[in-house]
Amino acid sequence: MKVAIVTSEAVPFSKTGGLADVTGTLFKEYLHMGIEAFLFMPLYKRTAEQFGEEIQDTGIAIDIPIGKASRQCKVFTLKSQGKGRQNTDKKNLASDFWLLTSERVFFIGNEEYFGRDELYGTPRGDYPDNDQRFAFFCKSVLELCKKLKIDMDVIHCNDWQTGLIPIYLKTLYSSADVFRKTISVITIHNLGYQGIFPPQTMEITGLGWEFFQMEGVEFYGNVNFLKAGIVGADIITTVSRTYAKEILTPESGFGLDGILRKRADRIYGILNGIDYNEWNPSADKFLPYSYNRSRLSGKTKCKAELMKLCSLEGDTDAPLMSFVGRLSSQKGIDIFADAIPEIITKGANIVILGKGEEYYHTLLNSVRERFYRRLFFYSGFDEAIAHLTYAGSDIFLMPSRYEPCGLGQMIAMRYGTIPIGRNTGGLADTIEDGETGFLFNDYSSRGLMSGIGRALACYADRELWQRMTKSAMGKDFSWERSARLYLELYRKFSR
Ligand code: ADP
Repeated sequence: MKVAIVTSEAVPFSKTGGLADVTGTLFKEYLHMGIEAFLFMPLYKRTAEQFGEEIQDTGIAIDIPIGKASRQCKVFTLKSQGKGRQNTDKKNLASDFWLLTSERVFFIGNEEYFGRDELYGTPRGDYPDNDQRFAFFCKSVLELCKKLKIDMDVIHCNDWQTGLIPIYLKTLYSSADVFRKTISVITIHNLGYQGIFPPQTMEITGLGWEFFQMEGVEFYGNVNFLKAGIVGADIITTVSRTYAKEILTPESGFGLDGILRKRADRIYGILNGIDYNEWNPSADKFLPYSYNRSRLSGKTKCKAELMKLCSLEGDTDAPLMSFVGRLSSQKGIDIFADAIPEIITKGANIVILGKGEEYYHTLLNSVRERFYRRLFFYSGFDEAIAHLTYAGSDIFLMPSRYEPCGLGQMIAMRYGTIPIGRNTGGLADTIEDGETGFLFNDYSSRGLMSGIGRALACYADRELWQRMTKSAMGKDFSWERSARLYLELYRKFSR
Protein backbone atom coordinates (compact mmCIF):
# COMPACT_ATOMS: atom_id res chain seq x y z
CA MET A 1 0.00 0.00 0.00
CA LYS A 2 1.39 3.40 -1.00
CA VAL A 3 0.62 6.08 1.57
CA ALA A 4 1.57 9.75 1.33
CA ILE A 5 1.64 11.74 4.54
CA VAL A 6 1.32 15.40 3.64
CA THR A 7 2.01 17.89 6.38
CA SER A 8 3.18 21.42 7.06
CA GLU A 9 5.58 20.17 9.75
CA ALA A 10 7.19 16.89 10.79
CA VAL A 11 9.90 15.91 13.25
CA PRO A 12 12.82 16.01 13.00
CA PHE A 13 12.71 18.53 10.17
CA SER A 14 10.37 21.22 11.44
CA LYS A 15 8.19 21.60 14.50
CA THR A 16 5.99 24.12 16.22
CA GLY A 17 3.79 21.65 18.09
CA GLY A 18 2.25 18.21 18.35
CA LEU A 19 1.39 18.00 14.63
CA ALA A 20 5.08 17.58 13.84
CA ASP A 21 5.44 14.76 16.36
CA VAL A 22 2.41 12.97 15.00
CA THR A 23 3.24 13.13 11.28
CA GLY A 24 6.97 12.44 11.64
CA THR A 25 6.43 9.52 13.96
CA LEU A 26 3.53 7.98 12.05
CA PHE A 27 5.64 8.09 8.90
CA LYS A 28 8.50 6.35 10.66
CA GLU A 29 6.17 3.77 12.15
CA TYR A 30 4.80 2.97 8.68
CA LEU A 31 8.31 2.46 7.35
CA HIS A 32 9.09 0.11 10.22
CA MET A 33 5.92 -1.82 9.40
CA GLY A 34 6.99 -2.19 5.78
CA ILE A 35 4.39 0.18 4.37
CA GLU A 36 5.44 2.09 1.28
CA ALA A 37 5.08 5.48 2.94
CA PHE A 38 6.09 8.91 1.63
CA LEU A 39 6.40 12.18 3.51
CA PHE A 40 5.80 15.58 1.87
CA MET A 41 6.49 18.88 3.63
CA PRO A 42 7.71 22.39 2.84
CA LEU A 43 11.41 23.18 2.89
CA TYR A 44 11.54 25.97 5.46
CA LYS A 45 14.55 28.18 6.01
CA ARG A 46 15.19 26.54 9.40
CA THR A 47 15.00 23.05 7.91
CA ALA A 48 17.45 24.01 5.18
CA GLU A 49 19.83 25.53 7.74
CA GLN A 50 19.69 22.60 10.12
CA PHE A 51 19.68 19.76 7.59
CA GLY A 52 21.36 21.48 4.66
CA GLU A 53 24.12 18.91 4.34
CA GLU A 54 21.64 16.10 4.25
CA ILE A 55 19.18 17.56 1.79
CA GLN A 56 19.71 17.50 -1.95
CA ASP A 57 18.08 19.15 -4.92
CA THR A 58 16.39 16.54 -7.11
CA GLY A 59 16.60 18.84 -10.09
CA ILE A 60 12.82 18.66 -10.44
CA ALA A 61 11.21 22.06 -10.92
CA ILE A 62 7.50 22.48 -11.59
CA ASP A 63 5.59 25.65 -12.39
CA ILE A 64 2.56 25.90 -10.16
CA PRO A 65 -0.29 28.24 -11.10
CA ILE A 66 -1.25 30.57 -8.26
CA GLY A 67 -4.06 32.82 -9.37
CA LYS A 68 -3.07 34.43 -12.64
CA ALA A 69 0.64 34.04 -11.94
CA SER A 70 2.76 30.99 -11.35
CA ARG A 71 5.50 30.07 -8.91
CA GLN A 72 8.22 27.51 -9.24
CA CYS A 73 8.28 24.49 -6.94
CA LYS A 74 11.74 23.05 -6.49
CA VAL A 75 11.79 19.54 -5.15
CA PHE A 76 14.33 18.37 -2.62
CA THR A 77 14.91 15.05 -0.94
CA LEU A 78 17.25 13.48 1.57
CA LYS A 79 20.64 12.39 0.36
CA SER A 80 20.83 8.64 0.39
CA GLN A 81 23.31 7.03 2.74
CA GLY A 82 26.87 7.29 1.64
CA LYS A 83 26.09 9.98 -0.92
CA GLY A 84 27.88 12.74 0.93
CA ARG A 85 26.06 12.29 4.20
CA GLN A 86 28.43 13.27 6.98
CA ASN A 87 26.80 13.92 10.27
CA THR A 88 25.04 10.77 11.36
CA ASP A 89 24.66 11.86 14.96
CA LYS A 90 23.02 15.20 14.37
CA LYS A 91 19.75 13.79 15.58
CA ASN A 92 18.91 10.25 16.55
CA LEU A 93 15.54 10.52 15.04
CA ALA A 94 16.91 11.91 11.82
CA SER A 95 19.46 9.16 11.39
CA ASP A 96 16.63 6.67 11.61
CA PHE A 97 15.09 8.27 8.57
CA TRP A 98 18.24 7.89 6.57
CA LEU A 99 18.64 4.29 7.56
CA LEU A 100 15.19 3.51 6.32
CA THR A 101 14.85 5.68 3.33
CA SER A 102 16.01 8.67 1.44
CA GLU A 103 13.79 8.80 -1.61
CA ARG A 104 10.60 8.75 0.40
CA VAL A 105 10.94 12.20 1.97
CA PHE A 106 10.11 15.12 -0.31
CA PHE A 107 10.60 18.76 0.53
CA ILE A 108 8.67 21.35 -1.46
CA GLY A 109 10.92 24.36 -1.92
CA ASN A 110 10.16 27.94 -2.83
CA GLU A 111 12.39 30.63 -1.42
CA GLU A 112 9.74 33.34 -1.49
CA TYR A 113 7.14 31.26 0.38
CA PHE A 114 9.17 29.13 2.74
CA GLY A 115 12.52 30.90 3.13
CA ARG A 116 11.26 32.75 6.21
CA ASP A 117 12.20 32.72 9.87
CA GLU A 118 8.95 31.16 11.06
CA LEU A 119 6.56 28.52 9.73
CA TYR A 120 3.24 30.32 9.81
CA GLY A 121 3.78 33.81 11.20
CA THR A 122 5.30 35.91 13.94
CA PRO A 123 3.97 36.45 17.51
CA ARG A 124 2.15 39.46 16.08
CA GLY A 125 0.14 37.40 13.64
CA ASP A 126 0.00 35.01 10.71
CA TYR A 127 1.81 35.68 7.46
CA PRO A 128 -0.71 37.47 5.23
CA ASP A 129 -0.04 35.24 2.23
CA ASN A 130 -0.59 31.91 4.00
CA ASP A 131 -3.35 31.14 1.49
CA GLN A 132 -0.84 31.36 -1.37
CA ARG A 133 1.85 29.50 0.53
CA PHE A 134 -0.30 26.49 1.32
CA ALA A 135 -2.35 26.42 -1.89
CA PHE A 136 1.04 26.29 -3.60
CA PHE A 137 2.16 23.50 -1.29
CA CYS A 138 -0.98 21.40 -1.93
CA LYS A 139 -0.75 21.75 -5.69
CA SER A 140 2.97 21.04 -5.67
CA VAL A 141 2.46 17.74 -3.86
CA LEU A 142 -0.13 16.56 -6.38
CA GLU A 143 1.92 17.74 -9.34
CA LEU A 144 4.94 15.93 -7.99
CA CYS A 145 3.01 12.66 -7.60
CA LYS A 146 1.90 13.06 -11.20
CA LYS A 147 5.39 13.82 -12.42
CA LEU A 148 6.91 10.87 -10.59
CA LYS A 149 3.91 8.69 -11.50
CA ILE A 150 3.43 7.55 -7.92
CA ASP A 151 -0.07 6.12 -7.80
CA MET A 152 -0.80 6.60 -4.13
CA ASP A 153 -3.46 4.46 -2.54
CA VAL A 154 -3.88 7.00 0.22
CA ILE A 155 -3.04 10.67 0.55
CA HIS A 156 -3.22 11.42 4.23
CA CYS A 157 -3.58 15.16 4.82
CA ASN A 158 -3.16 16.99 8.09
CA ASP A 159 -4.89 20.17 9.22
CA TRP A 160 -5.91 23.21 7.18
CA GLN A 161 -2.54 23.67 5.46
CA THR A 162 -3.27 20.54 3.42
CA GLY A 163 -7.06 20.93 3.28
CA LEU A 164 -7.19 21.77 -0.42
CA ILE A 165 -5.77 18.41 -1.47
CA PRO A 166 -8.96 16.33 -0.91
CA ILE A 167 -11.03 18.81 -2.89
CA TYR A 168 -8.40 19.10 -5.63
CA LEU A 169 -8.47 15.31 -5.99
CA LYS A 170 -12.21 15.48 -6.56
CA THR A 171 -11.97 18.41 -9.02
CA LEU A 172 -8.84 19.69 -10.75
CA TYR A 173 -7.11 16.30 -10.51
CA SER A 174 -10.09 13.94 -10.84
CA SER A 175 -9.13 12.83 -14.33
CA ALA A 176 -5.44 12.27 -13.59
CA ASP A 177 -4.71 8.62 -14.17
CA VAL A 178 -2.22 8.45 -11.35
CA PHE A 179 -4.95 9.26 -8.78
CA ARG A 180 -7.50 6.81 -10.14
CA LYS A 181 -7.53 4.67 -7.01
CA THR A 182 -6.36 7.29 -4.51
CA ILE A 183 -8.45 7.94 -1.42
CA SER A 184 -7.91 11.00 0.71
CA VAL A 185 -7.88 11.26 4.48
CA ILE A 186 -7.82 14.45 6.46
CA THR A 187 -6.81 14.40 10.10
CA ILE A 188 -8.00 17.31 12.18
CA HIS A 189 -5.38 17.91 14.82
CA ASN A 190 -7.01 21.08 16.06
CA LEU A 191 -10.30 22.47 14.84
CA GLY A 192 -9.39 25.86 16.27
CA TYR A 193 -7.10 26.48 13.29
CA GLN A 194 -8.96 26.44 10.00
CA GLY A 195 -7.09 28.62 7.50
CA ILE A 196 -9.76 31.24 6.84
CA PHE A 197 -9.12 33.74 4.04
CA PRO A 198 -11.05 36.44 2.16
CA PRO A 199 -13.18 35.51 -0.88
CA GLN A 200 -10.42 36.62 -3.32
CA THR A 201 -8.53 33.53 -2.20
CA MET A 202 -10.84 31.56 -4.52
CA GLU A 203 -8.74 32.90 -7.41
CA ILE A 204 -5.58 31.64 -5.76
CA THR A 205 -6.97 28.14 -5.20
CA GLY A 206 -7.92 27.70 -8.84
CA LEU A 207 -11.25 26.18 -7.80
CA GLY A 208 -14.25 27.49 -9.67
CA TRP A 209 -16.59 29.96 -7.96
CA GLU A 210 -19.22 27.22 -7.92
CA PHE A 211 -17.39 25.84 -4.88
CA PHE A 212 -17.86 29.11 -3.02
CA GLN A 213 -21.05 27.93 -1.35
CA MET A 214 -22.18 26.31 1.87
CA GLU A 215 -21.61 22.74 0.72
CA GLY A 216 -18.17 23.79 -0.57
CA VAL A 217 -15.35 25.91 0.81
CA GLU A 218 -17.37 29.02 1.70
CA PHE A 219 -17.52 29.86 5.39
CA TYR A 220 -19.43 32.95 6.50
CA GLY A 221 -18.41 34.84 3.38
CA ASN A 222 -14.80 33.67 3.48
CA VAL A 223 -12.78 30.75 2.17
CA ASN A 224 -12.00 27.99 4.65
CA PHE A 225 -9.19 25.55 3.79
CA LEU A 226 -10.03 23.05 6.53
CA LYS A 227 -13.62 22.97 5.36
CA ALA A 228 -12.32 22.11 1.88
CA GLY A 229 -10.66 19.08 3.43
CA ILE A 230 -13.77 18.09 5.39
CA VAL A 231 -15.99 18.37 2.34
CA GLY A 232 -13.61 16.60 -0.02
CA ALA A 233 -12.01 13.82 2.03
CA ASP A 234 -13.08 10.19 1.87
CA ILE A 235 -12.20 9.75 5.53
CA ILE A 236 -12.03 12.34 8.28
CA THR A 237 -10.15 11.53 11.42
CA THR A 238 -9.34 13.37 14.56
CA VAL A 239 -6.95 12.56 17.31
CA SER A 240 -9.06 11.13 20.12
CA ARG A 241 -12.47 9.54 20.43
CA THR A 242 -13.78 12.15 22.81
CA TYR A 243 -12.66 14.98 20.51
CA ALA A 244 -14.35 13.20 17.57
CA LYS A 245 -17.63 13.58 19.47
CA GLU A 246 -16.92 17.07 20.81
CA ILE A 247 -16.35 18.59 17.36
CA LEU A 248 -19.92 17.69 16.40
CA THR A 249 -21.30 20.10 19.01
CA PRO A 250 -21.76 23.86 18.61
CA GLU A 251 -19.65 24.45 21.77
CA SER A 252 -16.55 22.79 20.31
CA GLY A 253 -17.27 22.85 16.60
CA PHE A 254 -15.79 26.32 15.84
CA GLY A 255 -18.61 26.89 13.36
CA LEU A 256 -17.86 23.67 11.45
CA ASP A 257 -20.00 21.36 13.59
CA GLY A 258 -22.86 21.53 11.07
CA ILE A 259 -20.81 20.30 8.12
CA LEU A 260 -19.06 17.78 10.37
CA ARG A 261 -22.41 16.38 11.52
CA LYS A 262 -23.33 15.90 7.85
CA ARG A 263 -20.21 13.81 7.43
CA ALA A 264 -20.43 12.05 10.81
CA ASP A 265 -20.46 8.59 9.20
CA ARG A 266 -16.93 9.23 7.91
CA ILE A 267 -15.45 10.64 11.14
CA TYR A 268 -13.17 8.50 13.30
CA GLY A 269 -11.16 9.22 16.45
CA ILE A 270 -7.70 7.66 16.62
CA LEU A 271 -5.53 8.58 19.56
CA ASN A 272 -2.01 9.78 18.85
CA GLY A 273 0.96 7.96 20.27
CA ILE A 274 4.35 9.24 21.31
CA ASP A 275 7.71 8.27 19.88
CA TYR A 276 9.10 5.78 22.37
CA ASN A 277 12.63 6.24 21.02
CA GLU A 278 12.59 9.95 21.55
CA TRP A 279 10.70 9.87 24.83
CA ASN A 280 12.39 7.24 26.92
CA PRO A 281 13.65 8.07 30.44
CA SER A 282 16.01 5.09 30.43
CA ALA A 283 17.81 6.28 27.28
CA ASP A 284 17.26 9.98 26.83
CA LYS A 285 20.27 11.85 25.49
CA PHE A 286 19.01 15.10 26.99
CA LEU A 287 18.92 13.75 30.57
CA PRO A 288 21.87 13.83 32.96
CA TYR A 289 20.52 10.71 34.72
CA SER A 290 18.46 7.86 33.40
CA TYR A 291 15.76 5.94 35.20
CA ASN A 292 12.95 3.47 34.71
CA ARG A 293 9.88 2.15 36.50
CA SER A 294 11.80 -0.05 38.89
CA ARG A 295 14.72 2.32 39.45
CA LEU A 296 13.41 5.80 40.06
CA SER A 297 16.39 7.40 41.83
CA GLY A 298 17.53 9.01 38.56
CA LYS A 299 14.27 10.95 38.46
CA THR A 300 15.04 12.67 41.76
CA LYS A 301 18.50 13.54 40.46
CA CYS A 302 16.95 15.00 37.31
CA LYS A 303 14.69 17.06 39.56
CA ALA A 304 17.72 18.45 41.40
CA GLU A 305 19.32 19.34 38.03
CA LEU A 306 16.17 21.01 36.81
CA MET A 307 15.88 23.04 40.00
CA LYS A 308 19.50 24.10 39.67
CA LEU A 309 19.06 25.07 36.01
CA CYS A 310 15.99 27.11 36.92
CA SER A 311 17.54 28.64 40.08
CA LEU A 312 14.67 27.35 42.21
CA GLU A 313 15.12 27.40 45.96
CA GLY A 314 14.35 24.68 48.49
CA ASP A 315 15.05 20.95 48.42
CA THR A 316 13.76 18.23 46.17
CA ASP A 317 11.02 17.26 48.65
CA ALA A 318 8.89 20.22 47.67
CA PRO A 319 6.54 19.35 44.81
CA LEU A 320 7.64 20.67 41.43
CA MET A 321 4.94 21.43 38.86
CA SER A 322 5.55 22.12 35.21
CA PHE A 323 3.95 23.27 31.99
CA VAL A 324 5.41 22.76 28.52
CA GLY A 325 3.39 24.02 25.60
CA ARG A 326 2.28 26.64 23.16
CA LEU A 327 1.28 29.88 24.82
CA SER A 328 -2.18 30.24 23.34
CA SER A 329 -5.62 30.72 24.83
CA GLN A 330 -6.38 27.05 24.10
CA LYS A 331 -3.85 25.90 26.66
CA GLY A 332 -5.43 27.52 29.73
CA ILE A 333 -2.56 29.88 30.54
CA ASP A 334 -5.01 32.45 31.88
CA ILE A 335 -6.51 30.16 34.55
CA PHE A 336 -3.05 28.80 35.29
CA ALA A 337 -1.61 32.30 35.77
CA ASP A 338 -4.48 33.16 38.13
CA ALA A 339 -3.77 30.06 40.20
CA ILE A 340 -0.01 30.63 40.52
CA PRO A 341 -0.03 32.63 43.81
CA GLU A 342 -2.07 29.88 45.50
CA ILE A 343 0.12 27.11 44.08
CA ILE A 344 3.19 28.87 45.47
CA THR A 345 1.48 29.34 48.86
CA LYS A 346 0.89 25.60 48.95
CA GLY A 347 4.65 25.10 48.82
CA ALA A 348 5.11 23.97 45.22
CA ASN A 349 7.67 25.31 42.75
CA ILE A 350 6.82 25.87 39.10
CA VAL A 351 8.68 25.54 35.78
CA ILE A 352 7.07 26.90 32.62
CA LEU A 353 8.45 26.39 29.15
CA GLY A 354 6.48 28.00 26.37
CA LYS A 355 6.41 29.97 23.19
CA GLY A 356 3.50 31.75 21.60
CA GLU A 357 1.36 34.83 21.84
CA GLU A 358 3.01 37.99 23.08
CA TYR A 359 0.24 38.61 25.62
CA TYR A 360 1.08 35.41 27.51
CA HIS A 361 4.82 36.07 27.37
CA THR A 362 4.23 39.41 29.08
CA LEU A 363 1.85 37.88 31.61
CA LEU A 364 4.22 35.07 32.55
CA ASN A 365 7.25 37.35 32.69
CA SER A 366 5.44 39.50 35.20
CA VAL A 367 4.59 36.51 37.47
CA ARG A 368 8.14 35.35 37.15
CA GLU A 369 9.38 38.61 38.61
CA ARG A 370 6.93 38.29 41.48
CA PHE A 371 7.88 34.76 42.40
CA TYR A 372 11.55 34.75 41.61
CA ARG A 373 13.27 31.53 42.81
CA ARG A 374 9.93 29.78 43.12
CA LEU A 375 8.84 30.02 39.52
CA PHE A 376 10.92 29.76 36.38
CA PHE A 377 9.67 30.81 32.98
CA TYR A 378 11.69 29.96 29.90
CA SER A 379 10.27 31.86 27.02
CA GLY A 380 11.08 29.95 23.87
CA PHE A 381 11.13 26.54 22.25
CA ASP A 382 13.82 24.25 23.59
CA GLU A 383 13.87 20.49 23.25
CA ALA A 384 16.61 19.86 25.81
CA ILE A 385 14.85 21.87 28.51
CA ALA A 386 11.55 20.21 27.62
CA HIS A 387 13.02 16.74 28.18
CA LEU A 388 14.55 17.73 31.51
CA THR A 389 11.29 19.38 32.56
CA TYR A 390 9.22 16.27 31.83
CA ALA A 391 11.72 14.14 33.74
CA GLY A 392 12.49 16.47 36.63
CA SER A 393 9.03 17.55 37.68
CA ASP A 394 6.50 15.71 39.83
CA ILE A 395 3.32 17.11 38.36
CA PHE A 396 2.54 18.24 34.81
CA LEU A 397 -0.25 20.74 34.21
CA MET A 398 -2.54 20.77 31.17
CA PRO A 399 -5.42 23.06 32.08
CA SER A 400 -6.52 23.25 28.43
CA ARG A 401 -9.76 24.91 27.42
CA TYR A 402 -9.96 22.10 24.85
CA GLU A 403 -7.41 19.47 23.85
CA PRO A 404 -7.87 17.34 20.71
CA CYS A 405 -5.36 14.77 21.94
CA GLY A 406 -2.44 16.34 23.76
CA LEU A 407 0.99 14.79 23.83
CA GLY A 408 2.31 16.52 26.94
CA GLN A 409 0.29 14.39 29.35
CA MET A 410 1.39 11.17 27.65
CA ILE A 411 5.04 12.20 27.65
CA ALA A 412 4.71 13.23 31.30
CA MET A 413 3.29 9.82 32.26
CA ARG A 414 6.08 8.07 30.39
CA TYR A 415 8.51 10.04 32.58
CA GLY A 416 6.63 9.25 35.81
CA THR A 417 5.30 12.78 36.09
CA ILE A 418 1.66 12.88 37.14
CA PRO A 419 -0.54 14.96 34.83
CA ILE A 420 -3.37 17.19 35.96
CA GLY A 421 -5.61 17.88 32.98
CA ARG A 422 -8.99 19.27 32.24
CA ASN A 423 -11.62 16.66 31.51
CA THR A 424 -11.78 17.24 27.77
CA GLY A 425 -10.74 15.59 24.47
CA GLY A 426 -7.66 13.43 24.57
CA LEU A 427 -6.93 14.35 28.19
CA ALA A 428 -10.15 12.58 29.18
CA ASP A 429 -9.16 9.58 27.04
CA THR A 430 -5.64 9.14 28.37
CA ILE A 431 -5.61 10.22 32.03
CA GLU A 432 -7.21 7.79 34.46
CA ASP A 433 -8.40 9.96 37.26
CA GLY A 434 -6.81 9.00 40.58
CA GLU A 435 -4.79 6.19 38.89
CA THR A 436 -2.35 7.81 36.51
CA GLY A 437 -3.27 11.48 36.98
CA PHE A 438 -6.05 13.86 37.87
CA LEU A 439 -8.89 15.39 35.88
CA PHE A 440 -10.91 18.49 36.70
CA ASN A 441 -14.04 19.79 35.00
CA ASP A 442 -14.52 23.53 35.46
CA TYR A 443 -12.51 25.77 33.18
CA SER A 444 -11.45 28.14 35.97
CA SER A 445 -8.52 28.63 38.32
CA ARG A 446 -10.76 27.24 41.05
CA GLY A 447 -11.35 24.10 38.95
CA LEU A 448 -7.63 23.75 38.34
CA MET A 449 -6.91 24.24 42.06
CA SER A 450 -9.32 21.42 42.92
CA GLY A 451 -7.21 19.08 40.77
CA ILE A 452 -3.99 20.44 42.26
CA GLY A 453 -5.39 20.04 45.81
CA ARG A 454 -6.13 16.36 45.16
CA ALA A 455 -2.72 15.81 43.60
CA LEU A 456 -0.87 17.46 46.49
CA ALA A 457 -2.79 15.36 49.02
CA CYS A 458 -1.59 12.22 47.21
CA TYR A 459 1.93 13.62 46.81
CA ALA A 460 2.14 13.85 50.63
CA ASP A 461 1.63 10.08 50.82
CA ARG A 462 4.93 8.85 49.39
CA GLU A 463 3.81 5.27 48.94
CA LEU A 464 0.63 6.20 47.13
CA TRP A 465 2.53 8.65 44.94
CA GLN A 466 5.06 6.04 43.96
CA ARG A 467 2.27 3.65 43.06
CA MET A 468 0.70 6.28 40.82
CA THR A 469 4.05 7.10 39.27
CA LYS A 470 4.67 3.48 38.37
CA SER A 471 1.17 3.02 37.09
CA ALA A 472 1.53 6.09 34.82
CA MET A 473 4.89 4.83 33.53
CA GLY A 474 3.37 1.45 32.73
CA LYS A 475 0.80 2.79 30.27
CA ASP A 476 1.21 2.04 26.57
CA PHE A 477 1.15 5.16 24.41
CA SER A 478 3.28 3.75 21.62
CA TRP A 479 2.53 4.56 17.98
CA GLU A 480 2.19 1.00 16.83
CA ARG A 481 -1.41 0.71 18.00
CA SER A 482 -2.49 3.96 16.38
CA ALA A 483 -0.68 3.16 13.12
CA ARG A 484 -2.54 -0.15 12.87
CA LEU A 485 -5.86 1.60 13.38
CA TYR A 486 -5.07 4.06 10.56
CA LEU A 487 -4.13 1.20 8.24
CA GLU A 488 -7.36 -0.64 9.05
CA LEU A 489 -9.29 2.48 8.21
CA TYR A 490 -7.45 3.00 4.88
CA ARG A 491 -8.25 -0.61 3.94
CA LYS A 492 -11.89 -0.23 4.84
CA PHE A 493 -12.32 2.55 2.29
CA SER A 494 -9.71 1.57 -0.28
CA ARG A 495 -10.71 1.47 -3.94
P1 ADP B 1 -0.12 21.16 20.51
O1 ADP B 1 0.02 20.27 19.34
O2 ADP B 1 -1.51 21.68 20.69
O3 ADP B 1 0.89 22.25 20.52
P2 ADP B 1 0.57 18.83 22.09
O4 ADP B 1 0.51 18.56 23.57
O5 ADP B 1 -0.19 17.88 21.23
O6 ADP B 1 0.14 20.33 21.85
O7 ADP B 1 2.09 18.76 21.61
C1 ADP B 1 3.03 19.69 21.99
C2 ADP B 1 4.41 19.13 21.67
O8 ADP B 1 5.31 20.24 21.51
C3 ADP B 1 4.97 18.30 22.78
O9 ADP B 1 5.91 17.38 22.23
C4 ADP B 1 5.69 19.33 23.64
O10 ADP B 1 6.70 18.75 24.43
C5 ADP B 1 6.27 20.24 22.56
N1 ADP B 1 6.46 21.64 22.97
C6 ADP B 1 5.50 22.59 23.08
N2 ADP B 1 6.04 23.76 23.45
C7 ADP B 1 7.36 23.55 23.59
C8 ADP B 1 8.48 24.40 23.95
N3 ADP B 1 8.31 25.68 24.25
N4 ADP B 1 9.71 23.87 23.97
C9 ADP B 1 9.87 22.54 23.65
N5 ADP B 1 8.89 21.70 23.32
C10 ADP B 1 7.64 22.19 23.27
